[in-house]
Amino acid sequence: MLAYIGLGSNLDNPKAKLVMALNSLSEFNDIEVMTLSSFYESKPLLDIPGPNYINAVCKIETKLSALDLLEICQQIEDNQHRVRDVKWGSRTIDLDILLYGEQIISNDRLNIPHPEMTNRAFVLVPLFEIEADLKVPLLGSVKGCPRLSIIQPSGISSPRCAAVFTLP
Ligand code: AMP
Repeated sequence: MLAYIGLGSNLDNPKAKLVMALNSLSEFNDIEVMTLSSFYESKPLLDIPGPNYINAVCKIETKLSALDLLEICQQIEDNQHRVRDVKWGSRTIDLDILLYGEQIISNDRLNIPHPEMTNRAFVLVPLFEIEADLKVPLLGSVKGCPRLSIIQPSGISSPRCAAVFTLP
């Protein structure tokens, strides 16, 4: 199954936290990291005080169920001593399953597609970078997202990996 994972961190060397999490994902036999977006810097949601975030999106191939994948993501968060005091507040590392194939999942542990993904520049821009023609079940195409067209400045459509781009 192809899946997309959004990663974010704004504490204790966020870039290193993302790299650690990506390495951890790759270490699982049942997960192959296929593509990684550039790293993007963004302001905290809702102007919550705190350092800026570094975000990225990766595309993986996995044999795991969506729930098992969630457990791996949470294990990686725990291993990196995730701290989180307030909803949407600062965090050492956050891994969200954005898409799991074309499946629509809604239960007490998982909502896929991730309900907020089309509202968030730090998800849409890296997703568009690695898969410009991606279709999101229920939500349409990434390319057609109004939020993406507002924030897509010229030159950001094919940034190079390892660079950090600042998003509004
Ligand atoms: P957060 O604080 O954003 O990391 O949210 C963590 C909670 O969101 C966990 O309890 C998960 O069970 C739940 N959750 C629901 N849908 C998802 C998803 N698509 N990816 C990751 N966590 C999810």
